[in-house]
Amino acid sequence: MIPFLDLERIHKPLEKEIISAISKVIRSNRFLLGEEAELFEQEFARYCNTGYCAAVGSGLDALHLILRAYGIGPGDEVILPANTYIATALAVTYAGATPVFAEPDEKTFNIDAAGIKPVISHRTKAIIPVHLYGQTADMDPILELGRRHNLKVIEDAAQAHGALYKNRPAGSLGDAAAFSFYPGKNLGALGDGGAVTSNDRELIDKIKMLRNYGSARKYVHEYKGFNSRLDEIQAAVLRIKLRHLEEWNSQRCHIANRYLKQITNVNVGLPYVAPENKPVWHVFAIKSRKRNELQQRLKDSVIETLIHYPVAIVNQTAYSELNLDAKGYKLSQALADSILSLPVYPGLTEEEITRVVNVINAWV
Ligand SMILES: *Cc1c(COP(=O)(O)O)cnc(C)c1O
Repeated sequence: MIPFLDLERIHKPLEKEIISAISKVIRSNRFLLGEEAELFEQEFARYCNTGYCAAVGSGLDALHLILRAYGIGPGDEVILPANTYIATALAVTYAGATPVFAEPDEKTFNIDAAGIKPVISHRTKAIIPVHLYGQTADMDPILELGRRHNLKVIEDAAQAHGALYKNRPAGSLGDAAAFSFYPGKNLGALGDGGAVTSNDRELIDKIKMLRNYGSARKYVHEYKGFNSRLDEIQAAVLRIKLRHLEEWNSQRCHIANRYLKQITNVNVGLPYVAPENKPVWHVFAIKSRKRNELQQRLKDSVIETLIHYPVAIVNQTAYSELNLDAKGYKLSQALADSILSLPVYPGLTEEEITRVVNVINAWV
């Protein structure tokens, strides 16, 4: 069986090092807001080429706290892709603002300035481009649009640790960026975790208060904050894993390049990479009108696949209150019906890649 993702292959070689780092945290008796989280923040900011980083409890919290820190709330609108994971929209809802969905570009599946422009209103306060599947959105025109309309541009980089846009890393492209360290992400903790990166010192200081009950000094509260801290054990594990991220991302690129070169079935659409991008292939999504048949065929050959995501947000019961006209989101719905994600992760063997390629090419 070829699993969709096998974290054991990633963790096995690091197990001793991870266990000893965890033991060190236990012996330190410091479990929150300690040295490991602080060092991780410095190391991750350096990795993303930003001045600052605030480590928080999850990717969803990272997005939510950025919006809160910018004072975005009730009566405000925030633009995001119609074809993203629901967390992007939930962060806007948590802040009390209204999510407004933009259709993606047909080729990259990312939202672009052309799709964002028509949904900007006098209430719009921010744009959240998602670097879907590990390829960054076309940020320069979006930043230009944001400047013209006085909007914050917040990257949802939850799938894009290490991705490059015109040689600039994800996380350094907008006013602020949110990362997730959910275990299955390119950089994953052994549980939940997230981070905000930015060059805005004030923003990061405010988020560091918001994540800790609105407090910078114990029992003195500047804001009605939240509880969302990256704990010391997760930070210690992430520090170890961060040192391997570049190598893991290049393994993902190798697998993706083999798929791109060797999958030749004309009934399968391959992902498009824009020339200014270096994606990190969190997901390798192919397209097919008979997606369900292809998924079954792969399953019969014991190859596990997933769909990111099978139900567009505009069709989710959770957002029925917005009364969205589904007709306005044809592309996102068509994507939900035709995409299929193939295994792409460090440790996938050459033989396994060959098997995936062969099963797809033999499918009629
Ligand atoms: C994973 C993910 C999130 C949420 O991250 P969590 O750490 O699970 O809260 C947000 N946006 C996107 C695009 C994601 O893939």
